[in-house]
Amino acid sequence: MSRTCLRCGLGAPNVRFQLGGSRFCVTCISKDVTQKRRERPDLRTAHNSYVNRWRIENPERTLFTSAKKHAREIGVPFTITLEDIRIPKVCPVFGFHLRPIGGPRQDDTLSLDRIVSSLGYVKGNVWVVSWRANCLKRDGTLEEFRRLLNGLERKNLQQKSHAWFTRVSA
Ligand SMILES: [Zn+2]
Repeated sequence: MSRTCLRCGLGAPNVRFQLGGSRFCVTCISKDVTQKRRERPDLRTAHNSYVNRWRIENPERTLFTSAKKHAREIGVPFTITLEDIRIPKVCPVFGFHLRPIGGPRQDDTLSLDRIVSSLGYVKGNVWVVSWRANCLKRDGTLEEFRRLLNGLERKNLQQKSHAWFTRVSA
């Protein structure tokens, strides 16, 4: 059975169709969407503010849904349930108040972190921290952070003594 796009008149395999009953090809549909967005930017804004409001009101669900998508994209297990996502008032790493999701992501925006990245989103391996803490940690291990901290402290000491030396000798 072949399908023909009612807009451009092309049929498969020259154009692709979505699964389901659409009688327009994906190219024509996306052109339509682009056109509509251009004509009515207000609809886009209204939609975005609706989505943002929903996200702010449903933070656990928002984290859950985007983590599920992310897990699929990067190929890690996803077996947590909504109840595994507990949102604290403050960032457990830095102690500042967590900004709700919705709107551009900032350092204090709450985010779901995998404690051991490679294990994925499994029970006991997720916690909600600020985006800043999440970024700094990324997929680092405890041992790596110890080394990083030691390295930085050593470097800091060197620089301080260097600064002291040059100040004295100048
Ligand atoms: Zn078409």
